[in-house]
Amino acid sequence: MTLSSTTAPLASAHDAVLLDLDGVVYRGDVAVPHAVDALASVTGRLAFLTNNANRPPEVVAAHLTDLGLAADVDDVVTSAQAIASVMSRDLPPGAAVLTVGGEGLRQAVAARGLEPVEDHHDARLAAVVQGYSPDVGWRHLAAAAYAVGRGLPWYVSNTDLTIPTAEGIAPGNGALVQAVRFATGVEPVVAGKPFAPLFEETLARLAPTRPIMVGDRLDTDIRGARGAGIPSLFVLTGVNDLTDVIATPPSDRPDYVGADLRALHDVHPAVDLESGRAVCGRAEAAIRDGRLRLTRAGSSTESVRALVALGWAHRDESNESLQVDATIEP
Ligand SMILES: [Mg+2]
Repeated sequence: MTLSSTTAPLASAHDAVLLDLDGVVYRGDVAVPHAVDALASVTGRLAFLTNNANRPPEVVAAHLTDLGLAADVDDVVTSAQAIASVMSRDLPPGAAVLTVGGEGLRQAVAARGLEPVEDHHDARLAAVVQGYSPDVGWRHLAAAAYAVGRGLPWYVSNTDLTIPTAEGIAPGNGALVQAVRFATGVEPVVAGKPFAPLFEETLARLAPTRPIMVGDRLDTDIRGARGAGIPSLFVLTGVNDLTDVIATPPSDRPDYVGADLRALHDVHPAVDLESGRAVCGRAEAAIRDGRLRLTRAGSSTESVRALVALGWAHRDESNESLQVDATIEP
């Protein structure tokens, strides 16, 4: 897998831009630099995809509106909605579902015509669904384990092992899912990135002809987009950095790379590769003594492309270690 190129601004070739939120649009309560302006000038449809099953979509949309983005509730697609859609296809209408999670999950289950239930002794139970909420405790996890152990189908919103909070890194829904998995030995059906249902929910709602996914995590956003057959743009404003994207296995490589969301409005020129050297527009990268460096800066998009294309070519051709010795100035 090598980088794709364009002769026109990237966004102009796509009628829908699917966006991861944390690390792409915002970090905590603060907008990522340039994100609001870059998204305001996208003419295609925007969709915001979140693995967070606790916050209902109107809460996410209000947060985005507060940051200065014109986001409607229908522009937000949550893992809670995606798993509820999966259940509504698998279960009869009105089926009772033991719902372990927060308000976003309960709302999504009810909105798909199923009945969220809290009592695991309820004889009508047809399935179990589990999502993150700060109020999920041992009794909820035990109830889920008892019901799953009895053989009821088990659905989960997402399996992120950790979540960032204002105080640090905390256990995510994936850690709570592990607790039930340990007790039952059962594998759940998962909706969130990198699994397909969140992308399928988005595509079903928007019906785009040429979508593109933007993400900051290679093993969720980019891997998930690849699995769903959607081209992807990786940006450097979140969890994974330049060294990560160069080292990532070919299965998790993005189609496009950029410093931040302004890369949506850039042309992504083809990269010319020759022994130990890459040229993209005005940018030039080179490998000397196992170090990958930017030897001439171009636009930030050109510079990232030259570095990534050369780093990937090196990894595909040799087992020698590669140190990435470059920073991208916006
Ligand atoms: Mg993210």
